[in-house]
Amino acid sequence: MTAIKDAIKIIDAAPKITFLTGAGVSTPSGIPDYRSLQGVYQGIDQPEYLLSHDCLVYEPQKFYQFIKQLYHPEAQPNIIHKKIAALARKKPVWVISQNIDGLHDKAKTPHVVNFHGNLYDVYCCKCNQSIPWEKYLTCDIHENCGGRLRPNIVLYGEGFTTDVVNHATAAVKSADLVVIVGTSFQVAPFNQLLYYRDKHAKIMAINQTPLAIQEPFTMVQCAAEDLFKEINI
Ligand SMILES: [Zn+2]
Repeated sequence: MTAIKDAIKIIDAAPKITFLTGAGVSTPSGIPDYRSLQGVYQGIDQPEYLLSHDCLVYEPQKFYQFIKQLYHPEAQPNIIHKKIAALARKKPVWVISQNIDGLHDKAKTPHVVNFHGNLYDVYCCKCNQSIPWEKYLTCDIHENCGGRLRPNIVLYGEGFTTDVVNHATAAVKSADLVVIVGTSFQVAPFNQLLYYRDKHAKIMAINQTPLAIQEPFTMVQCAAEDLFKEINI
């Protein structure tokens, strides 16, 4: 296991970094992992169903009730988002995030790919118009056309846009160092992004529990905020 100070030396020395971030990056901002919400009042349904295309189409009220719980507009970027954004102003840094909370954007990170979309980006399924998320939280029907509103996130059972996949793979290809932060890295296709890295690129993982990755990598087992607060920029 690598110590925090040695990990920081590797981050400092890398000319180009791509961060792959997950739920553990947002929990210090007070955002619970949606998996912890199961059973709150949804009975036997699993979050994977409640966040699925089928649920949106066949049980839209159930979908809407669940998705509303995922909005935390009061949440602010924490030390991890802020230090990554600061690094990105100093050298080429990309962020590809599994999180749908938009906190990397809120931290003004220059190059972010929200791999699973952004809850605060809402549109009408019928007329395609963009709608403020505040409106969506009061009603899921578009007042102009009667269409159903939804957030622009990738639901279970839906595909990824070519644009997002192209940006993400290009960001991984360009990196000298790929840093996985705050995720057990078990969700495909997010965890397959590593295949696109340059063969000379190094891999580091910062997570509270050890990761199982087939490639050689540096494991830093800690809460991500404990590492990022020690980075001097
Ligand atoms: Zn509409």
